Amino acid sequence: MRCIYILPIGSIHQPILRTVAQEITLRFNCRCKIIPSLEAPSYAFEPDREQYSSGKILKQILNNETLCSLLKGTVKILGIVDVDLCTPILTFVFGEAQLGGKAATVSLCRLRQEFYGLPPDPKLLLERAKKEALHELGHTFGLVHCSDPKCVMYFSNSVRNIDVKTDSFCRSCSMLLCENKQSERE
Ligand SMILES: [Zn+2]
Ligand SMILES: [Zn+2]
Repeated sequence: MRCIYILPIGSIHQPILRTVAQEITLRFNCRCKIIPSLEAPSYAFEPDREQYSSGKILKQILNNETLCSLLKGTVKILGIVDVDLCTPILTFVFGEAQLGGKAATVSLCRLRQEFYGLPPDPKLLLERAKKEALHELGHTFGLVHCSDPKCVMYFSNSVRNIDVKTDSFCRSCSMLLCENKQSERE
């Protein structure tokens, strides 16, 4: 793995990007770089749902001209957005990734306490953002959902689930991650 790139899509608070980048470097043991942002994802807006299509955002990352030379290498790109994401079959998603691919996206929208009518909690937001970033990137390394509720690859459909899990990969996910990283290098 040459590098994992963090791509802000729209305006994203710098300290969040930096914290997520540090966490990625630590957990995946590779370089992580924050690259210049893309414009807000108005192209992915779904008027019927008043949400944004995570699939369209992934497509935009993969087809973006400025990113195309980066994407030729052994890299991953994690797009970070601050809009509410959905897929055709799910009412919302915290993020989406290509399984064993190069692109992933994560949204901060539903990770904020304010979304649930609660007072802001910047520290909690950072914790959640780190876990969801690792989770989606884990998918790009070929990891699927894990049955261990403490493992970062556990499927979260609520912030409660996110708060229960840790920011680490369980033993079996770690082993698989290690193997898959190895084979991507070859
Ligand atoms: Zn997942
Ligand atoms: Zn696991």
